[in-house]
Amino acid sequence: CPQKCERCGRAGATIPCRAAAGCSRLYHFPCAAASGCFQSMKTLRLLCPEHVAEAVDMEDARCSVCKGPGDLQDLVFCTGCGQHFHGACLDISLTPRKRSGWQCPECKVCQTCRQPGRDAAMLVCEACDKGYHPFCTEPAAQGLPTGSWRCKNCWVCSDCGQHPVGLGSSCPWSLGSTVCGDCRQRRATADAPTAPEHAAQPDPPTQTSESPVPSEPTDPPVPPPELEPVGGDEETQPLLDPNETPPDPKEAPLEPKEAPPSLAESPPGE
Ligand SMILES: [Zn+2]
Ligand SMILES: [Zn+2]
Ligand SMILES: [Zn+2]
Ligand SMILES: [Zn+2]
Ligand SMILES: [Zn+2]
Ligand SMILES: [Zn+2]
Ligand SMILES: [Zn+2]
Repeated sequence: CPQKCERCGRAGATIPCRAAAGCSRLYHFPCAAASGCFQSMKTLRLLCPEHVAEAVDMEDARCSVCKGPGDLQDLVFCTGCGQHFHGACLDISLTPRKRSGWQCPECKVCQTCRQPGRDAAMLVCEACDKGYHPFCTEPAAQGLPTGSWRCKNCWVCSDCGQHPVGLGSSCPWSLGSTVCGDCRQRRATADAPTAPEHAAQPDPPTQTSESPVPSEPTDPPVPPPELEPVGGDEETQPLLDPNETPPDPKEAPLEPKEAPPSLAESPPGE
């Protein structure tokens, strides 16, 4: 039957749990580390998480920091030197992602160039605890960020939740950014129409004149608001129709009088 891995469920698992009482669990090597199995470099003995307590009698089940077996569930195995460390002794909260392929501070190499580097001089991913030289990140980090940092394998866009690896240049992983390139563009497009509303108002003019402030206000007084016409005086005035002929004058000039007939009759014989 296929050798099915206890953690990932795929075939080809070859590392069995060596519990004294017998255990049927099988693991791939990285899956064993991620699961929190105890692994001994000296005896190549593996104990699954359920049987990890049996490691207390093994001589290399000792934390390199506190020198004790302590909490065996909290031991993590360095794939470089094979030493064990308590997560608590390194101030690391262990997760499967951190346990898988874990390297102790002495063995930590850059995941990009595989060259060693002092732990303090490397970016250490908060999610997987893997190291990267600042100059080996893409784009190169300018110094070491003070806050938390995630490598390209652990970084996810806070908007779309998409993994940037494999998406090419359309979704670049950029240091310090919380959103991918696509989402940054989408945000910029969405913000564009509302940008003028949020634009800062122009600053009020500041007094730069050295002259003393005049006592009289130089600004013209604000005109009072225009009042609506009250009553409407125009309505009392008669409306004049320009087409209407003016009324006839009351006293027309008299017609010239006929000459008195007496004048026409001149006395004869004079
Ligand atoms: Zn597996
Ligand atoms: Zn077991
Ligand atoms: Zn310890
Ligand atoms: Zn190591
Ligand atoms: Zn590097
Ligand atoms: Zn990471
Ligand atoms: Zn995104």
